[in-house]
Amino acid sequence: MPISFYEARQQILDAVPVLATEKASLLDASGRVIATDIVAEYSLPAFDNSAMDGYAVRVADCNIGRVLPVIGYLPAGETSSAPVKPGTVTRIMTGAPIPPGADAVIPLENCQEGQDQITIQQTVKKGDHIRWCGEDIRPGDQVISRGTPLRPAEISLLASFRRATVPVHLRTRVAILATGDELQEVDEPHFSGGIVNSNSPSLAAAVREIGAVPIILGIARDNLPSLREKIKQGLQADVLITSAGVSSGDRDLVREVLEEFGMEELFWKIKIKPGHPTAFGMHNNTPVFSLPGNPVSTLLTFEEFVRPALLKMMGHHSVLRTLYRATLSEPLKKKPGRLQILRVALQINQDGELIVSSAGDQNTGILRTLVDAQGIALLAAERDFFAAGEKIEVHLFGASTTLGY
Ligand code: AMP
Ligand code: MG
Repeated sequence: MPISFYEARQQILDAVPVLATEKASLLDASGRVIATDIVAEYSLPAFDNSAMDGYAVRVADCNIGRVLPVIGYLPAGETSSAPVKPGTVTRIMTGAPIPPGADAVIPLENCQEGQDQITIQQTVKKGDHIRWCGEDIRPGDQVISRGTPLRPAEISLLASFRRATVPVHLRTRVAILATGDELQEVDEPHFSGGIVNSNSPSLAAAVREIGAVPIILGIARDNLPSLREKIKQGLQADVLITSAGVSSGDRDLVREVLEEFGMEELFWKIKIKPGHPTAFGMHNNTPVFSLPGNPVSTLLTFEEFVRPALLKMMGHHSVLRTLYRATLSEPLKKKPGRLQILRVALQINQDGELIVSSAGDQNTGILRTLVDAQGIALLAAERDFFAAGEKIEVHLFGASTTLGY
């Protein structure tokens, strides 16, 4: 019995394991998911320091027009225990510790500089241009939670706390197997009736986009020995994705071979369009996704089912793309019974609203529509009509998606 889109996704997310962790250098950790909470052990900034190149002063001395001698110099990286005595100033550079006695910094450009002296030209307030110890982060603050992907900002924070290595989840190693007698590799000479294997490169790109590691197994032919050999290899990886050979045709043998290897199939067929014959199972701890062969179906089912699973395996706590409400600029019709994974064009109008329309012909054979799409709308299985002006939920393909005006 085909199951619903949402049941299928939940069953997958419940079944897939979270991978182990390892220590990685900051560079190696970037883009991966931290496996521990980070609690601040000390303050940031670690000491009061100057936010500007200028003069460390005592506010009580800073009446406008007053001339004050410069008695010291503090470049960044140097500390001085020499206090700023009443009636004097110390030249200080950005990042240098505020010397004892000083309670403000006057930027170079805000005073008149003379030979070994400055003249006060503006009102000075206590704390001006000082970065106080702990104003950013205090000891005990939880600054990063486990399950967070490490972006450049988190890497900056980790480096500030002298974490040269951090525990992160392993990258998922994903075996990718194309199946079909008609397939030839992209760099092989064309034969009549041949179809280029575009699924292996497209799936590998999709796997890599989320920081997982593709292992391309090549093509298995539609016979038992060939499938057995390749599937055996694929089951060594953390995840196996096959494409094609999963419908009900005479040569659709993928599920049969997986069953021979002892895979427990959790479902076959989802009430969706495209992607109906998708199957999913577990071989011990290895999730196996059997995706349909049509290149559009392959990528859409990867997007909706495999991508969240790989993210969970790599330790991500949020695995689904953010949903946005968008206004339909045209009516949409569909047959009731299956959820439609609609390839959509998205624009932002002059009022800043997100506007959605079909990205083109939604026939599964039309790859062009996927190329033209910026995202996906999931049209509920039971509905058959959506009116222009109605708000529907959409998700974008990724951070690099740009929206036109
Ligand atoms: P199947 O599920 O085996 O009936 O395949 C469905 C359709 O997808 C057929 O037209 C195949 O030729 C095509 N197809 C299958 N595998 C690939 C692939 N790796 N790259 C491109 N097209 C494929
Ligand atoms: Mg086939």
